[in-house]
Amino acid sequence: MPHDSLAAEFSDAIRSLQDGDAEYVPQLVDLLLRKARDFRASDVHLVPQQTGLKLQLRIDGVLHHVITFDGDVCPRIVARLKVLAGLLTYRTDVPQEGRIASSGSDAEQLAGEVRVTTFPTLFGEKAAVRLFADSDHYQRLNELGLPDDIETAMGNLLQATSGVILLTGPSGSGKTTTVYACLRELVRLHGDGKGLMSLEDPIEVVVPGVTQSQVRPHVGFDLATGIKSMMRQDPDVIMIGEIRDPETAECAFQAALTGHLVLTTFHAGSTVEAVTRLLDMGIEPYLINSTLRAIVCQRLFRKTCPECFNQPTTDINPAGIQKPTGSADNSATVEVPAIRCRTCGDIRYHGRFVTAELLNPNRTEISQALLERVDANRLESIAKECGTVTLHDRAREAVRTGLTYPEEVFRVLGRRL
Ligand SMILES: [Zn+2]
Repeated sequence: MPHDSLAAEFSDAIRSLQDGDAEYVPQLVDLLLRKARDFRASDVHLVPQQTGLKLQLRIDGVLHHVITFDGDVCPRIVARLKVLAGLLTYRTDVPQEGRIASSGSDAEQLAGEVRVTTFPTLFGEKAAVRLFADSDHYQRLNELGLPDDIETAMGNLLQATSGVILLTGPSGSGKTTTVYACLRELVRLHGDGKGLMSLEDPIEVVVPGVTQSQVRPHVGFDLATGIKSMMRQDPDVIMIGEIRDPETAECAFQAALTGHLVLTTFHAGSTVEAVTRLLDMGIEPYLINSTLRAIVCQRLFRKTCPECFNQPTTDINPAGIQKPTGSADNSATVEVPAIRCRTCGDIRYHGRFVTAELLNPNRTEISQALLERVDANRLESIAKECGTVTLHDRAREAVRTGLTYPEEVFRVLGRRL
């Protein structure tokens, strides 16, 4: 079901265009991209249905159904995007990818640099437009908005001369932004005084001061072999894009054991899960104890919209909030502001903030538990007894201070407060 207020915003704007005009479709596409930017969407999806073309926007990480077009305008919208991106309009049977340059027509200038991909589906071509966010990747550690205690701890950790710092979180949790902020901090701390190298898959952001490399697995230059060769290049600090397999994990920990500081990311839902996954990958507890300095696990939560926060609300059908799969919650409504809020389009959220938990595995109780290979639940209890502030604790505090809503905590963590 479309999101009512977003639908109204788009419908009103579309009605101002002259249907039948030769320029109708180009103007319509201009308008869609412009409105998507107005609502801070990161992605625009045009999804062919049995009848019609569904427009969805991803805002603050969540997909919202806006409107559904019908009639012969549907394929023409996708065709217009393909023209803008320099794709082959007569090929609708293969996936294509292109970019709209940031100069030229109104649509292009308004949209900035955008990536357009198309994909053949049962009912026609689906188009996805990625509107590039520009500010995200240039942040420093103190600009990320991490909790103060974690920011301070990370600043200290980055001054270590050896060991592994593990940044974890699911995809879309902002850990890539954090790892690049850490690299910039390392450059700031050490300048040319230390050799900083990275091995990435792929390089997402260029960081001046770091010697960056991208793996080429098809010629045998993968992460594991790359780390071994990199050690002979005499670096002090290495960043490894993401540990995905036991061999890379082993190489990363061995590099730390031989006196290097290793910064890397890992896909895990919590710090405790990260530890248990490392053990499952065959990394010996003694190696974790002697080299792992900290695990940070982070999440992005949507912020309450400052305009409609504390305003009276009414219940509507859930278009804005996707419940986690397998959720026991069957309620069919969500709250929206009773008065239409133009700032958030009645989504009730505006922007996101990052929060994190940090596990210090060097605590005696935790390193003892690792040697004993206790299960995840027991390890979590021990971590809490040692004073670890969990993501759940941070989320509860964020709700208490009005920074987010309880529904958002449930969406992100899959757990109620
Ligand atoms: Zn609002």
